[in-house]
Amino acid sequence: MIHSLHPCLSSSTVITEQVSQISLQTANVHNEDSVVSNATSAVFDWDTFKFAPIRESQVSRAMTSRYFKDLNEYAESDIVIVGAGSAGLSCAWILARARPDLKIAIIESNVSVGGGCFLGGQLFSAMVLRKPADEFIRELGIEYEDEGNYIVIKHAALFITTLCSKVLALPNVKLFNATAVEDLITRTSPAGEVRVAGVVTNWTLVSMHHEDQSCMDPNTINAKVVISCTGHDGPFGAFCVKRLVTQGLLKRNRMGCLDMNRAEDSIVKGTREVFPGLVCAGMELSECDSANRMGPTFGAMVLSGVHAAERALEVYPLREKEDKEQY
Ligand SMILES: Cc1cc2nc3c(=O)[nH]c(=O)nc-3n(C[C@H](O)[C@H](O)[C@H](O)COP(=O)(O)OP(=O)(O)OC[C@H]3O[C@@H](n4cnc5c(N)ncnc54)[C@H](O)[C@@H]3O)c2cc1C
Repeated sequence: MIHSLHPCLSSSTVITEQVSQISLQTANVHNEDSVVSNATSAVFDWDTFKFAPIRESQVSRAMTSRYFKDLNEYAESDIVIVGAGSAGLSCAWILARARPDLKIAIIESNVSVGGGCFLGGQLFSAMVLRKPADEFIRELGIEYEDEGNYIVIKHAALFITTLCSKVLALPNVKLFNATAVEDLITRTSPAGEVRVAGVVTNWTLVSMHHEDQSCMDPNTINAKVVISCTGHDGPFGAFCVKRLVTQGLLKRNRMGCLDMNRAEDSIVKGTREVFPGLVCAGMELSECDSANRMGPTFGAMVLSGVHAAERALEVYPLREKEDKEQY
């Protein structure tokens, strides 16, 4: 079964339809007197067209006031998700809707979100997801081709941009991109038990220059639970697992060779709190569980994100209690 635009539509028909769809959508968010409220007329008169005036400082203040308000509010977050790839964003989508009372910060080191999910594999476009991950795709309302045991979305970017737009529209989520997690906050109980209690952040560009610039101290975000979805080992990848390994707090096993069938099941099933206060999802998990490499198939990333949301909510009451007890 193919879920796609009708192939007989000419490109001009498609464009005309898209323009009137834009007008209709815009009409929904403006009052009825608006110039764009009437979907049957031209959107703008281009001869008399002019933007409303603005002073440059208004633009600066519009951005900075909101950003610093967010930094202030989310300095004390309930849950931090590290990495806005397919696992991190899927997790955020489930978590934020299940618990609208929780403040969820997503920290992404790149300027753009999506991680390895803007392309399929070897820089190809189509995205393959094995069933039952198709349920998640239907929930997002994304068109796909059903190939029996798996589905294909025509472009991986369609998936990740749709997911991201839905996540960012949620009121209890804030994405801090171009921001790297460069350390973890930990707390040690009187009994000597260590747990993760937040993240240490910096502008990614600053993080990349600790070798040649000095005294560039980071910022911090406290959280009851951190969910790490930083992907494969790499300059920034597998970050939280690697940090705990260097401290002797976690054992690292390295990702195994490629086996799609084993890899996807083990990543989804193995999604859990790998260290007190730290839930690990997506390909980062392969770095501590020695799961097989899986190549460009994304069902496990999505469902590992879903599973991570459930695991995080399961441990949340305990970690919240500990957080109250240990300043
Ligand atoms: C070309 C290609 C090759 C692939 N190769 C493989 C493969 O070899 N094996 C395999 O299993 N799958 C592979 N895949 C499939 C797929 O890309 C990955 O498995 C999938 O992207 C992993 O999803 P993820 O959400 O776990 O991590 P990612 O998609 O890698 O997302 C992690 C995100 O975390 C961010 N991040 C990392 N560190 C930090 C930090 N310290 N602070 C803040 N943010 C951080 C990254 O910028 C990134 O956006 C490949 C895909 C492609 C397109």
